Amino acid sequence: LNIQTWGTEEQKEKYLPRMASGEWIGAMALTEPGAGSDASSITTRAVRKGDKYILNGTKMFITNGPICDIGIVLAVTDPSKGPLGISAFIFEKDFPGFSRGKKIDKMGMRSSPTSELIFEDCIIPEENLLGGEGMGALVANTTLHWERTGMGFAIGTMEYNLNLCKEYALQRYQFGEPIGNFQAVRHRLAEMKIDIEAAKYLFYRMAWLIDTDQIPAILDISVGKAFLSKALVKNADAAISIFGGYGVCSEYPVQRSYRDAKIIEIGGGTYDIQLNMIAAAIMGPRQKVKKK
Ligand SMILES: Cc1cc2nc3c(=O)[nH]c(=O)nc-3n(C[C@H](O)[C@H](O)[C@H](O)COP(=O)(O)OP(=O)(O)OC[C@H]3O[C@@H](n4cnc5c(N)ncnc54)[C@H](O)[C@@H]3O)c2cc1C
Repeated sequence: LNIQTWGTEEQKEKYLPRMASGEWIGAMALTEPGAGSDASSITTRAVRKGDKYILNGTKMFITNGPICDIGIVLAVTDPSKGPLGISAFIFEKDFPGFSRGKKIDKMGMRSSPTSELIFEDCIIPEENLLGGEGMGALVANTTLHWERTGMGFAIGTMEYNLNLCKEYALQRYQFGEPIGNFQAVRHRLAEMKIDIEAAKYLFYRMAWLIDTDQIPAILDISVGKAFLSKALVKNADAAISIFGGYGVCSEYPVQRSYRDAKIIEIGGGTYDIQLNMIAAAIMGPRQKVKKK
């Protein structure tokens, strides 16, 4: 999407068809060991030398890092300009000076590989600058609403859990009757349903805002992402409770959703950061107070 939005015709022609066909896997490398929520504090440096840029720095937690063929990396081209001194580049796995750290062993989302990416005097040709020098923050922000809205896939996990729990509650007997007769269990199922429906409405709205070009819609997107991430954890927690001891056993699927859910709260901007953005949309920026 970044290339589609910001790329030159040559960049689009070179990269998009092979990414669309699945031949090339992409990655987006913004986060660093010392720069997560505060993405504008990245230190990966890009220095222009003739018709090339030389990149040095390490990126952290990069989805598809272990398997990417190409990717976008954010680096500082002008340290004096703060966020306006950040630029985006398209890298390829065979560029000299590019390497990957080992695959990170995560508690959840284990089928989505994650690793560090290392740029050590990595040579990137100038034609791989994406969107012009200083446009990196804008380039990165282009996809944030897509990334956050794309997390709506997890509503399917909540529905899956609800169906599993319903079936289990109907066939698991305790005290001589199905546990689905007990109000505590029935109410958990009812709350799961409420969250699923609420999340669907929020995410349909987010998708509609994107479809109808009403973006950036920071408030709506952050509200949806924040709601979903908490609803997922709550849904998975309820599912494990309904399955009782079996819920924490690895052969039962609900424990997986619990491990996956927590990651949605972090990736794509943490829950706290979404709250900051929602609060800023309601209240405006925090007031600067002169302390006596
Ligand atoms: C599985 C996974 C995949 C990821 N994939 C990618 C990827 O493909 N590309 C990429 O670039 N990044 C990726 N990330 C990184 C992700 O975007 C960051 O982890 C996230 O932005 C948080 O940064 P951090 O982990 O450094 O936490 P920190 O920023 O250090 O935050 C730690 C805690 O402090 C809180 N906090 C920080 N600042 C504030 C504040 N101002 N107000 C309130 N609370 C605050 C946070 O909410 C959090 O609870 C991925 C992360 C994970 C876990």
